[in-house]
Amino acid sequence: MHKEMIIGIYPSSDFIQDNLYNKTCPLGLLTVLSYQHYKSIIYNEVVSGDIDLHPELIQNAEILLFSITVANFPRAIKLSKRFHLEGKRIYWGGPEVSMSGPKLLIDNSYIDGIAIGAGESIINDLLNENDRSGRVFLQKNITSYFKLINDFHPLKSILNFDSIKIDYNLLFDLDKYEGLSYLWGNDCLQANKRCYFCGRLSMGLGYRSPEIIWDELLEQYRNGFRFFYNTTDSVTTNLNLFKDFCIKKPNEIKDASHRVFVNANMVNEHLINSLKMINGIAVMGIESFGNLKKSNKINITENDNIQAIERLFKADLKFVVSFVYGLPEDTPESIDYNSEMIRIIVDKYGSNIDSIHISPLLITTGSTAFYDLYNLPLIKEKYRNMSLPLNPIELSNDYFNNFCMISRKDTIYKILELSEEIKAIAPKIKIGAKGILKAELFNQTDLNYFLKDSLANAL
Ligand code: SF4
Repeated sequence: MHKEMIIGIYPSSDFIQDNLYNKTCPLGLLTVLSYQHYKSIIYNEVVSGDIDLHPELIQNAEILLFSITVANFPRAIKLSKRFHLEGKRIYWGGPEVSMSGPKLLIDNSYIDGIAIGAGESIINDLLNENDRSGRVFLQKNITSYFKLINDFHPLKSILNFDSIKIDYNLLFDLDKYEGLSYLWGNDCLQANKRCYFCGRLSMGLGYRSPEIIWDELLEQYRNGFRFFYNTTDSVTTNLNLFKDFCIKKPNEIKDASHRVFVNANMVNEHLINSLKMINGIAVMGIESFGNLKKSNKINITENDNIQAIERLFKADLKFVVSFVYGLPEDTPESIDYNSEMIRIIVDKYGSNIDSIHISPLLITTGSTAFYDLYNLPLIKEKYRNMSLPLNPIELSNDYFNNFCMISRKDTIYKILELSEEIKAIAPKIKIGAKGILKAELFNQTDLNYFLKDSLANAL
């Protein structure tokens, strides 16, 4: 086994990608392959382009590990089928895969195995000869459908995070990355009762030691990297640990920035002091004005969101705000109200806004939104015999038709209009969105959007 060549592949996406994608790396693959010390390489199509995946690399590989997201599985299917015919062993992992469960294996004969569970919990087991038939690599005789991840007890896996030294040199075309993501911890204040649209797997497993992470980052800083992305679901879960992490930043790292997720109700003086130490860019899911309750974001109010924005602005820190259009019972009027509030925020705080993400709600397998939709009798009837993975755009269109007073198409149109306005008011703000197909933006025959060039470029 240890002599096999393994290629980790992060396929490109049919969705528009936000400006972050060249600054991140498939951290799950990177962690797994760094830990195992296989002869391996990770090919990220988003960064390297998808020009036939360098055939000479693939030729030598025996195993291909695909990192699957809701956005990249059409490409993953295409590549997997092709390489399966060439005799490679194909394995899939990622949240969509975990949530889809064993039926995904049954429906797709070109996949040899799927990894089920949160990345951190399977690292010890994944690719381990002794655990080939356990909960990690499920074989094709398991028949349950949409089995919930909780059944797999991911927290029980024993993992020593610090025994993993992330080896960024496994990334093919490392010099083309504009920044790097890193693994510090994995936890989220909302994890026990997730946000309405979130398909994340479970509570995290804790935190890696700051010394080891800063060693990894220092090496890459010396290689010229100046943008780092802390993938922890929320660094505000434990402000003391975050402070300790920031204090330990090596003095040599001076001009790099760190993007971190925060919860608005935890933006206080302590967090601000820590963010300043690492030149942090705070990313907050504001989700909605007026309809925030429907996002199921417990313990966070609209007032928390506004206060957090004000505090970050006063501290002269950069921040990113994200919104979801299409929460249950959203109407054209509620969406217009959100857009008006976003305009006000841009006017008032625009100089400190790094990016704004406004996304139509996208159905990801395993989210509360998914189950709300799937449990409607007519919808269940429609999808029950379909092969997995299900088409997220079709699911999302069905979701809007059943839960909102506005169609997905009209919602996207409103997002595009607002994006154009923001671009005009504050051209430096980067605008992003998830859950919109490139074809929906550029192919006018599809949804018949009539876009000005500037608007297409804005996203
Ligand atoms: S969307 Fe973010 S904050 Fe909400 S449950 Fe998921 S990871 Fe946590």
